[in-house]
Amino acid sequence: MPRKITPSVLPGNKWCHGCRQALPVEAFTVDKSKADGIAHECRGCAAKKRRGRREVNHAMAETYARLSVLGFAR
Ligand SMILES: [Zn+2]
Repeated sequence: MPRKITPSVLPGNKWCHGCRQALPVEAFTVDKSKADGIAHECRGCAAKKRRGRREVNHAMAETYARLSVLGFAR
């Protein structure tokens, strides 16, 4: 089995899986579902992801609106 690559992170820092760099834990949001109680991504990446998701939903809503106008969506 291939070994999991764990980047060296200084104490008080955490590896962000989003921007792939070590950042101070203060830069991360709290996630109680995680073992260490800290989210895997920093606030910046989390915000970016949320924005992206909203754009996708908006595009989907637009597509549905167009389809319903054409009588495809019920
Ligand atoms: Zn990040």
